[in-house]
Amino acid sequence: MKAAVLREIGKLTIEDIKEPKPLDDEVLIRVNSIGVCHTDLHVLKGHIPFPLPAVLGHEVSGIVEKVGKNVNNVQVGDKVIGPFILPCGKCRLCITGQEDLCESFYNYNRLKGLYYDGKTRLYDKKGSDIYMYSMAAHAEYSVIPSTSVFKIPDSLDISMASILGCAIMTAYGACRNTALRPAEKVAVFGVGGVGINVVQIASRVYNSDVIAIDLNEEKLKQAKSIGAISTINPKNEDVVKSLLELTDGKGVDAAIEVIGIKSTIEAAIRSVRSAGRVTLVGLSSKGSEASFEINSLVRRGVKITGSYGGKPRIDMPEIISLADKGIINIKDSISARYRLEDINEAFEKLEKGEILGRAIINI
Ligand SMILES: [Zn+2]
Ligand SMILES: [Zn+2]
Repeated sequence: MKAAVLREIGKLTIEDIKEPKPLDDEVLIRVNSIGVCHTDLHVLKGHIPFPLPAVLGHEVSGIVEKVGKNVNNVQVGDKVIGPFILPCGKCRLCITGQEDLCESFYNYNRLKGLYYDGKTRLYDKKGSDIYMYSMAAHAEYSVIPSTSVFKIPDSLDISMASILGCAIMTAYGACRNTALRPAEKVAVFGVGGVGINVVQIASRVYNSDVIAIDLNEEKLKQAKSIGAISTINPKNEDVVKSLLELTDGKGVDAAIEVIGIKSTIEAAIRSVRSAGRVTLVGLSSKGSEASFEINSLVRRGVKITGSYGGKPRIDMPEIISLADKGIINIKDSISARYRLEDINEAFEKLEKGEILGRAIINI
């Protein structure tokens, strides 16, 4: 099968590799669409260390081609999506309802590019290992643990539905981890692929009043059309000052940072009111740090929470239902489509900040 393989940092090459086989509790899908995400870009550029050679691609839609033993949640021929977190279902965090933080997923897949038996499912034509970032979806076929495969209704367009698995699940998890409430003022720092979905979920699902912040006017326009009540462009104004002005000098109830940059994280922390919540979603280069004023944080009872994603088996059925009803709109956040052969071009555009919302790759 064709796959985009990362053999050296910076460039993906299309190769012919062996088609993977599903083991027990696993599902083989024929890939239809994959979202083009910043996290893959971080790995591609070497900002996040990962073993090579590797196949990236971690939000996917497709059709079930084969199922392994014990799989009973999907059948051959089902239209499905696969979110990027692949819960093992057995570790302490999985059994205590925190499968977004599954220890096995982090230790085996994120650090080593393997599944939970300590093996990959991908091999090149000579039989050498190729490591897997999540389900390694930049390929014609992908093997996914059944804990992370969800059937979607016919009403959802399979050629776009992949974005439910990272751009939307990450945004959904961020809003839940922030414990948003109706009519709260919420600042969203960065309205790219995930941020634009934080805007729509906070506005449409939680009925919060969202203030979108970005350097790109087009992105701010899109944020407004999808639910933001105000926008701020830091090129033209001081963000913290403007947020205070918009909230009678008190600060926002919650700030969600979706970029992963020191200066915006620090601005997010300074922009919340007493008892405010700050949720950090954007990943950064390994080792990056940000700082805050200790007394201000302590005295005002500000909470800072990291939010990595969503809980697939809890959140995906809810997300699929919200998308099916049109409350979460997937179409409006997709602005570009590429073929697998043009994958490097898609990541170059993403890096330059030229992609509005999400780009997808269709196979
Ligand atoms: Zn992602
Ligand atoms: Zn687990």
